[in-house]
Amino acid sequence: MSVALIAHDEKKADLIEFATEHSAILEHYDLIATGTTGKKLMEATGLDIERKASGPLGGDMQIGAEVASNECEAVIFLRDPLTAQPHEPDISALLRICDVHDIPLATNLASADAVLDGLTKDEN
Ligand code: PGA
Repeated sequence: MSVALIAHDEKKADLIEFATEHSAILEHYDLIATGTTGKKLMEATGLDIERKASGPLGGDMQIGAEVASNECEAVIFLRDPLTAQPHEPDISALLRICDVHDIPLATNLASADAVLDGLTKDEN
């Protein structure tokens, strides 16, 4: 089971900071990410991350496919609510499939903290 990390461009710095802070926890999971997010996270944190396609090229859908096949246990997706995204339909599909499968989905830093806490609690 993997944990997915995604951030829109305006939120990538926040996700890097979050992943750096929580790298000791995150390194215990199989991590997947959309293309650019994954590249930046790996450069900044040294975490090992499987990169999917870039979001606008289908990466969100690839992650959605993993959720659909029960291969992903949580999604942290720091969205930029102020900027229109060309791949909004794909993003909506990813959020929807998380709801269909009752997979925890965090769309901001506060909920990302809560989801990570929940994951580590589940393990104990
Ligand atoms: P990116 O995609 O990591 O390739 O920038 C994220 C997204 O916009 O969904």
